[in-house]
Amino acid sequence: MPDFPANGQSLIANRPSPYAWVSKSLNTLKRADWYRQVPSIEGSQDGWITVDGQPLLNFASNDYLGLASDPRLAAAAIEAIETYGTGSTGSRLLSGQRPLHQTLERAIATLKGTDDAIVFSSGYLANLGTLTALVGPRDLILADQYNHSSLKRGAVLTGATVMDYGHCESDAIAAVLQTHRSRFRRCLIVTDSVFSMDGDLCPLPQILTLAEAFEAMVMIDEAHGTGVLGDTGAGVVEYLGCRGRPLIQMGTLSKALGSLGGYVTGPKDIIDFLRNRAPSWIYTTGLSPADTAAATVAIATLQSDPERRQHLAQNASYLRKQLDQLLLDLPHLSYLKRFPSDSPIVCLQVKDAAMVLSLGQQLKRAGFFVSAVRPPTVPTSRLRMTTMATHESPQIDQLINQLGQILRS
Ligand SMILES: *Cc1c(COP(=O)(O)O)cnc(C)c1O
Repeated sequence: MPDFPANGQSLIANRPSPYAWVSKSLNTLKRADWYRQVPSIEGSQDGWITVDGQPLLNFASNDYLGLASDPRLAAAAIEAIETYGTGSTGSRLLSGQRPLHQTLERAIATLKGTDDAIVFSSGYLANLGTLTALVGPRDLILADQYNHSSLKRGAVLTGATVMDYGHCESDAIAAVLQTHRSRFRRCLIVTDSVFSMDGDLCPLPQILTLAEAFEAMVMIDEAHGTGVLGDTGAGVVEYLGCRGRPLIQMGTLSKALGSLGGYVTGPKDIIDFLRNRAPSWIYTTGLSPADTAAATVAIATLQSDPERRQHLAQNASYLRKQLDQLLLDLPHLSYLKRFPSDSPIVCLQVKDAAMVLSLGQQLKRAGFFVSAVRPPTVPTSRLRMTTMATHESPQIDQLINQLGQILRS
């Protein structure tokens, strides 16, 4: 079998290759500075990482609590592998589940103060499966315009009418409900809790009040809230005083919980319904024993180790404060703007994609790993800096000093 011709030429002379459009599209991405490459990291993820042999201070991780390299999680994962093996070998409905899965689901429900929980193989799959189970072509989805890709794709998959509202604008939600709610069977309002590329929070209390008034369901994506916000680390629902309100919470085990997988938690009937109707749970292999065990221990550390969460919150507010101070010293660069943030995600808007790439590269040369985020992931190019519980304030000072030097030159 010949390989696909790499240059887009057909093997048969004078015939255009049906794949020629791919290299053209790639070139368009490159010209727009939208082309992406995957950085390779050596060693474990922590406050420090090694990229191409160079040690870098890591401000690009979602491992907010530093649990992904925690020996307690690793020990639990190894023990689970020794007991149950590496794979979970099939869909839980067909191949059965391990006691580990139920232990994890209990732990999630206890953390969140909900009836029950269901774990998916990733957060992305949790969103696709939950949305497609809950709504269909006769229904309406109201979605924040900055929702995560998995919510946007999932909404399209449902076949429902999808109406995006302006970022965090609860007045806009009210207006749409007023005008359109009565034309549809079910209605679902869906939003990130912490917006992953901005760092701000959704107006959950207002959303819940509107949902009650207009008989709408609410689904909130706590991917960046779980383990990070709230007195017990339960997330934005707890942080904003909305525990016990009628809503469906989704989240991931892959960020602050340092493992892999996604979950949905809420009223018993809804979780039961998802076990019967969520295709991305029914037709995919269950979470591996190692990931399941690691996530369970991660949830236990939220309770046993609250200092980590406190240290994380201190680091986040220190990073925001130092960045604001730097911007006060650079009034002539008026395009620089820090996004409002209530989380460890702190973003600095810059001029354009070329500038954010250059900043990212210069910071890397100076020993800092920071995400340069560009369209189409976000509407405007920005440096995305995330703090971890394992950072110390002098490291944050170093980052901000270096950023200042680069911006001044
Ligand atoms: C990361 C993320 C997801 C997907 O979670 P995975 O477990 O990584 O698939 C979903 N929603 C949001 C907001 C995220 O940031």
